[in-house]
Amino acid sequence: QDISVCSLNDLIEEVRYTLRTQINTRCNNFELDLQASPSDIWCYKRRISQVLINLIINALEAIDNPSEKISIHTSNDKENFVTVRVRDYGDGIPLENLHKIFDAFFSTKLDTGGTGLGLAISQSIAAQHHTEIRINQAFTQGTEFTIDFPIDVKPM
Ligand code: ADP
Ligand code: MG
Repeated sequence: QDISVCSLNDLIEEVRYTLRTQINTRCNNFELDLQASPSDIWCYKRRISQVLINLIINALEAIDNPSEKISIHTSNDKENFVTVRVRDYGDGIPLENLHKIFDAFFSTKLDTGGTGLGLAISQSIAAQHHTEIRINQAFTQGTEFTIDFPIDVKPM
């Protein structure tokens, strides 16, 4: 596991390919909205791929109808950061669960094989990359997770 310079857009495309079967089965409204050539970031490629996989699988599990949209967006809007957003139009997270979702073993899917580890692990990978996964509560429908990756900073 080595640190390398990589393109978040390329990682997202790779992850979409890795998850193509799950995506095609569950969602026919899966959209990538990738900014043209945002800056590369320093990262542990496999770990950041795992974070993206966890967020996308959660989104796929949150929608209850294949026509509900899932979108992944990248931008360079903030100076010195590349931002990725994973948005779904699914059930959303009840207010009373919001403070628990990053806790290890917290899951509302225990009966269907959820472990409650995806977001906990993802949050610690984000911390290694000097950032955090944030949840955007400004929406009435669905859920959006945002990560701002600092450019030119090597992970721990
Ligand atoms: P798991 O998916 O195994 O339950 P996670 O750590 O990935 O564990 O997620 C923890 C919990 O956070 C989920 O059980 C679910 O209640 C909530 N959650 C995470 N992502 C979403 C999402 N996109 N929409 C709705 N709820 C979510
Ligand atoms: Mg999960």
